[in-house]
Amino acid sequence: MKVAVFNTKRYERHVLEHAAKSVRGGSIEFTFLDVRLDGQTVALARGHEAALIFVNDVADRSVLEKLKEGGTRFLATRSAGFNQIDRIAAQDLGIQLAYVPAYSPNAVAEFTIGLILTLGRHIHEGHNRVRRADFNLEGLCGFELRDMTVGVCGTGRIGSAVVRLLSGFGCKILAYDEEPNEEVMLRASYVDTREELFRFSDIITLHVPLMPSTFHLINAESIDLMKEGVFLINTSRGALLDTPSVVEALKSRKIGFLAIDVYEEEASLFFEDRSSDIINDDTFARLLTFPNVIVTGHQAFLTNHALRNIAETTLLSLTEFAEGVPCSHAVPHHD
Ligand code: NAD
Repeated sequence: MKVAVFNTKRYERHVLEHAAKSVRGGSIEFTFLDVRLDGQTVALARGHEAALIFVNDVADRSVLEKLKEGGTRFLATRSAGFNQIDRIAAQDLGIQLAYVPAYSPNAVAEFTIGLILTLGRHIHEGHNRVRRADFNLEGLCGFELRDMTVGVCGTGRIGSAVVRLLSGFGCKILAYDEEPNEEVMLRASYVDTREELFRFSDIITLHVPLMPSTFHLINAESIDLMKEGVFLINTSRGALLDTPSVVEALKSRKIGFLAIDVYEEEASLFFEDRSSDIINDDTFARLLTFPNVIVTGHQAFLTNHALRNIAETTLLSLTEFAEGVPCSHAVPHHD
């Protein structure tokens, strides 16, 4: 079976190829493409029965229609989120969808803790100072997590792993989810509303998927509810934040710390070396000027463990599609 693999980097190609060697019948033939899937690149999938994409590819109705015209019947995202795919259009067109629901919730959870500790203890600034032979500690005083109330918004696979890791630090943990989880209840106190979580947390970390109900969840109104100097972390999806409102709140000191691994307009920035480019996105450029902001380029997932699991799960989905058996990791149907 011919498989077009959009948006691939060197670090994952060899892992996918290695996983493909163990596929029953060994019949997967990859075409690796640097470009992301969108209206301009979709023609590259012509003649491939399956296509693989990642978080910032575009799989809207018009792209899916062109994929189908070109003979593609199966589309898998190598990610846990699938908000980039128009699921209704895929259903209408009979394109099967798969994803990787739990390649390593711990990868993102550990990264989240890393962001809290880095910014909360100014580790990044300390590192930069020492490299300049500046050993002054002025401005590097941090906080201890045991003195904090941490609010975890979304306690699915990643959020519940964050709660598990946080429980070792002795902080008070609040949680909010539309579907509370029993394991989380052993370590955290669920609040009844998102607003309560925002009101009572010193640190708020977001682990809900991007959907219409969570789009710009963090906006001027929700920020208003938060404590002065709140620490906000987003390792989920960029559009959970209304970034201009967040910038205003950083300027007014309402938000005291911000750590983000995702950005609403990241598709035109992340995953490439743009160090010689002029950044035209003024909101993003403004974020980079704050000393109390850390931005990483969607790397929370990136561990050896996660890459191996992504490759193995994706190969299983391709094999199931090839054999005509139900897909173990099908994207849930749109209600
Ligand atoms: P999950 O589906 O296991 O958990 C999501 C949780 O959010 C569920 O428990 C659900 O009930 C809850 N939820 C949904 N809508 C809600 C709402 N409106 N209010 C409160 N709770 C709500 O997903 P997961 O595996 O934990 O992943 C969470 C998100 O993390 C993914 O959707 C993806 O966007 C993001 N992610 C980011 C990276 C990265 O590298 N930065 C990697 C993997 C996943």
